[in-house]
Amino acid sequence: MKICVMAGDGIGPEIVEQALRVLKAPALGLQASFTEAAVGGAGYRAEGHPLPVSSLKAARDADAILFGAVGDFSLDTLPRELRPEQAILGLRKELNLFANFRPAIVYPELVDASSLKPEVVAGLDILIIRELTGDIYFGQPRGIHVRSDGVREGFDTMRYSVPEIERVAHVAFQAAQKRNRRLCSVDKANVLDTMQLWREVVIAVGQQYPDVELSHLYVDNAAMQLLKNPKQFDVMVTGNMFGDILSDEASMLTGSIGMLPSASLNENNFGLYEPIHGSAPDIAGKNIANPLATILSAAMMLRYSFGNADAADKIEAAVKRVLANGVRTGDIATAGAPVVGTREMGDAVLAALH
Ligand code: NAD
Repeated sequence: MKICVMAGDGIGPEIVEQALRVLKAPALGLQASFTEAAVGGAGYRAEGHPLPVSSLKAARDADAILFGAVGDFSLDTLPRELRPEQAILGLRKELNLFANFRPAIVYPELVDASSLKPEVVAGLDILIIRELTGDIYFGQPRGIHVRSDGVREGFDTMRYSVPEIERVAHVAFQAAQKRNRRLCSVDKANVLDTMQLWREVVIAVGQQYPDVELSHLYVDNAAMQLLKNPKQFDVMVTGNMFGDILSDEASMLTGSIGMLPSASLNENNFGLYEPIHGSAPDIAGKNIANPLATILSAAMMLRYSFGNADAADKIEAAVKRVLANGVRTGDIATAGAPVVGTREMGDAVLAALH
């Protein structure tokens, strides 16, 4: 297993360090090599670019990427193409990471962290699959111009081709097969032609997966249902823009940004694995960030890129044990309760790994 490690900015290095300790734990017995590569503000400072050529090469030479976070407010005045966040966009594009997996799980011990009633979210375990390389975020033409009547106007183009929809639909049906065999496709087929095509293609692909129950929701209703009764869902699949919004909404059902991992995969199961949160500059360098989202991202890496469900299960079980034992970083602790630091949370996961 060749793993490219891109710690990035802010809390990135602290949380990635804990995930690496877990991946190297004798209890897992993994044979892995690790190559570090600078990205984001760290890449800009080292080589003048958020995604230096050498880092992209290191990513291409690896089997998977463990990514921390990028973002550095002190570099926000740079031109857009040199800002830290371009690293993640560049990696998605260059490595064709078209399928974004975002699980949203509510651990019983953290049920009170949600802003929804415990009975609505207790036991929640859903997976949102967002298409990541197409849609209105990439469609041409786009721009801001002055119309012939002198009025300034902005425009973007929503576009999806049949092959783009097919490949993410296959990924979603196959993910549903490994879970509870229910897939909800989210679109806006009632208003948008692109989304009408989306629905047609998802239905056609679904013919190949008769064991998966397929349903459809318009995105506005999906946003509502996620708050009303999120446990009705198993796997959801949607386009880039709707997925961007719905996956953030779903993650907040759990109430804990420091707990949620993600994976972005291409057709060969090459993946970039990262916590859903950013570089949290407000808490960087203080040993208070929660490393569990990154540790759980490492577990996803073992499951999806390396087919090692056994090791992934062990890590996830260790995290559950740690939570059951009441170990908490500040972001998931109830007010006034004792908290541990980033490194101590790593220690606790290592101790619970067997
Ligand atoms: P953020 O996710 O970094 O932080 C939001 C809040 O959550 C902050 O209060 C932070 O302290 C807290 N938080 C985040 N992760 C935590 C953790 N592991 N443990 C405890 N608390 C945690 O979002 P932001 O503040 O909007 O953005 C900061 C920077 O991160 C920006 O430059 C942004 O562009 C970047 N960003 C990067 C990614 C990425 O690398 N994929 C994603 C989102 C934001």
